[in-house]
Amino acid sequence: MKRDSRRTRATHEPASAFICENCQQAVPGQAPGTQHRNHCPWCLWSLHVDIRPGDRRCGCRGSMEPIAVAVRYKGEWAIVHRCKRCRAIRTNRIAGDDNELALMSLAVRPLALPPFPLDRLGQQKTPGA
Ligand SMILES: [Zn+2]
Ligand SMILES: [Zn+2]
Repeated sequence: MKRDSRRTRATHEPASAFICENCQQAVPGQAPGTQHRNHCPWCLWSLHVDIRPGDRRCGCRGSMEPIAVAVRYKGEWAIVHRCKRCRAIRTNRIAGDDNELALMSLAVRPLALPPFPLDRLGQQKTPGA
């Protein structure tokens, strides 16, 4: 029963286009590969509007910064978003038209900013050796 009502609502509510509050690009409502467009395909920022994906029931409306890429089961990528206003953390599936360069630079960000000098890596002894 619950599953059916959710499917009905998803088909009855057309995804609406919006202007990204971070980069000001016009974002089409339809996204290939996902039912719920929840972030900008150019800068990957999102808005804190959902409690569950697509429900638009959260009143926070804070900007959500993309902070990391997570790899899910079967290798599917998800973007980890953190709300600037309430600090909530959400993971959202990537969409088929997300900017690949933006995704890659987000994914390699920890490698570009290591907390230790890279040239130390080869000199480290293994624990217990
Ligand atoms: Zn944007
Ligand atoms: Zn929030």
